[in-house]
Amino acid sequence: MSAFLRLLFRNRLAALGAVVLGAILLLVLAIPLLPLPDPDVIATADRFQPPFSEGHLLGTDHLGRDLLSRLLYGTRLSLAVGVVAALIAASIGSAIGIIAGYFGGRIDNIIMRGVDMLMAFPYILLALAIVAALGPGLLNALIAVAAVNIPFFARNIRGITAGLAQREFIDAARLAGLGHTRIILQELFPNVLPVIVIAMSTTVGWMILETAGLSFLGLGSQPPQADLGSMLGEARAALISAPHTSFVPGVMIFLIVMSVNLLGDGIRDALDPRLKSGALSRPLPMTQVRRRGDVPPATDDLLAIQHLETQFHVGKRIYRAVNRVSLAVKPGECLGVIGESGSGKSVTALSVMGLVSSPPGVITGGAVRLEGEDLLGAKYETLRAKRGEKVAYIFQDPLATLHPLYKVGHQLAEAIQVHHKPSDREARARALDLLKSVRMPNAESRLDNYPHEMSGGMRQRVGIAMALANDPEVIIADEPTTALDVTVQAQILALLDDLRRERGLAIVFITHDFGVVAQLCDSVAVMYAGRIVEQGPTDTVLNAPAHPYTKRLIACVPELGGGQRELAAIPGLPPVVDNLPEGCAFAPRCDKARDECRRGDIPLDGQAPRAVRCLFPEEPVT
Ligand code: ADP
Ligand code: MG
Repeated sequence: MSAFLRLLFRNRLAALGAVVLGAILLLVLAIPLLPLPDPDVIATADRFQPPFSEGHLLGTDHLGRDLLSRLLYGTRLSLAVGVVAALIAASIGSAIGIIAGYFGGRIDNIIMRGVDMLMAFPYILLALAIVAALGPGLLNALIAVAAVNIPFFARNIRGITAGLAQREFIDAARLAGLGHTRIILQELFPNVLPVIVIAMSTTVGWMILETAGLSFLGLGSQPPQADLGSMLGEARAALISAPHTSFVPGVMIFLIVMSVNLLGDGIRDALDPRLKSGALSRPLPMTQVRRRGDVPPATDDLLAIQHLETQFHVGKRIYRAVNRVSLAVKPGECLGVIGESGSGKSVTALSVMGLVSSPPGVITGGAVRLEGEDLLGAKYETLRAKRGEKVAYIFQDPLATLHPLYKVGHQLAEAIQVHHKPSDREARARALDLLKSVRMPNAESRLDNYPHEMSGGMRQRVGIAMALANDPEVIIADEPTTALDVTVQAQILALLDDLRRERGLAIVFITHDFGVVAQLCDSVAVMYAGRIVEQGPTDTVLNAPAHPYTKRLIACVPELGGGQRELAAIPGLPPVVDNLPEGCAFAPRCDKARDECRRGDIPLDGQAPRAVRCLFPEEPVT
């Protein structure tokens, strides 16, 4: 809650809205305590007194009634009616929306066509018609305003609910035997509540305005009762001769609607989970680079990551996700990057092409060189020209990376056409070749499939085909087989292995599975808490792990035919990288840690390509 308020008040305009609205609320709540004259007492002798006249701070109206008193009573009434109308519209509209979205099908159709019919009428006309049918009066105006706003809530909430109703957690609730009512109340409702609150906070202002409009026309509050709209209506005749009678309620309406809307916008921004991380601005097209220190010199590697430092700056916190990481691959090489989840593997990979979202991501040091060219210092256009063309990515979940509404053939062709200008026919032929090269069964007919019509293994083949579309020189694969079953995983690994042999592709393969590394990679780097703790040729690292962390990671892998050895899980969790202890980050989980391990910076020691960051390695590293 306090985090929400802090986020809300960081938005200056929202804070201003809250202050103005708070002051108005305080004033109207204090009405019984204030020495106000009766707002309805007529004193014709005192009509049209100007502001600041004796006994009447804001003057009097055409019947000699005290304007300040009428203003405060009227404001109270207008606010109450607006808020109650908003509550009614939100409750009924959301209920309709949830039911339509949850049940779908015919129920949805019938309900939503009814809602559409209401929406087809101009707003204020519909309200007028309702009041005309019910008769003038504040209560009827309230009903009319609530009624015309129901469709807005129903449409909004239905859309959200329909999206949620397809999700796995709803299926899980069904499997657990929950009835419709409990699913709606316990599973769906908490998820749509923020949306309802947001929709309400942004429409309350409108509803106050609409009620005032009806009262202005004489259809809302009836004399002598004052609300802001009727005050304006009564003052209309004296607009020129006694402008203050119009001015006073007018300014109040302006202040209320402005402050409610500003506050509503602030609430919307603060409640949006995507903005919670502090990213109130849109992400930049490439990761921000603010390098301190020297840029390391070029090497003869195809892709070289040199002393890379990538951080996330969230408020005052700094997450050191990647801390001086160096990796390199030559053509035809495969480098494995391994570590528990959260160790910084993905952020390292995304930093290469400037794909870490900024804010909050910042690259604060090091270099990424492709054929010697420093990519971190490059312009966005240069980087974009290389994305997919020279360096391509394969991600874990192809269902999330493929566009759900386009056929895979179209998406493959698009990937080619970003960088080259083949005709549609040529692009399609090339897409077919690509699918064949990743051994897609029935490649011809698969071109016209949508992603959801394929199995996980096939989608990942499409993902690989897309990465290959422009014959890149480097492929960065971020856990490409984690979501697949072992047989498909083996096929995909064999495929990648062939590709690098045939095409001389360099592969950076990210995984948390040593089995996969053993199968595919020439060398491996082990990451922990944003740093490389050990690296070397795969055989050496697997057979003689030097860092206790590597050793224990390997011990976690079950071995076929290895007898019923107890699997040694590593106790504890990887640390959060915003407040790392001094010394070795693994020390708190290491049974060999001594006092020295908790002091100073422990260097990555050894002769290339073998190195380990440990003061007391399991094996000597020469
Ligand atoms: P993995 O090794 O599982 O791929 P990641 O590279 O995704 O790990 O994440 C590395 C670290 O960076 C994690 O500790 C995570 O908390 C942090 N991190 C990633 N994205 C963000 C972000 N947007 N804001 C703050 N921290 C982040
Ligand atoms: Mg990852």
